[in-house]
Amino acid sequence: MNIKKGDTVCVISGKDKGKKGKVLVTDPAKNTILVENVNMAKKHKKARRADEPGGILDQNLAFDASKAMVVCNKCNKATRVGHKILENGKKVRVCIKCGETIDK
Ligand SMILES: [Zn+2]
Repeated sequence: MNIKKGDTVCVISGKDKGKKGKVLVTDPAKNTILVENVNMAKKHKKARRADEPGGILDQNLAFDASKAMVVCNKCNKATRVGHKILENGKKVRVCIKCGETIDK
């Protein structure tokens, strides 16, 4: 998975296509990501007690990481991610389009 927590991603398929948001959680085992304000679902909540109102809650759901692409913070485009090894041996992700390092 090329997406990491804190990345800005753009959704490339599904009902939220074109939406951008910040990655809040990644789950490499399931290959899913949770993105701020993307893949929102309404959840009906029942009132269990008199002082606890029921209603409709917005729920932020995780979705398949293949439905999103990382947005480069330099060229501001959804891009495929490449890899580069720095002089200090650290592996970083780079924007395929402009070469900007995505990992700061
Ligand atoms: Zn770029």
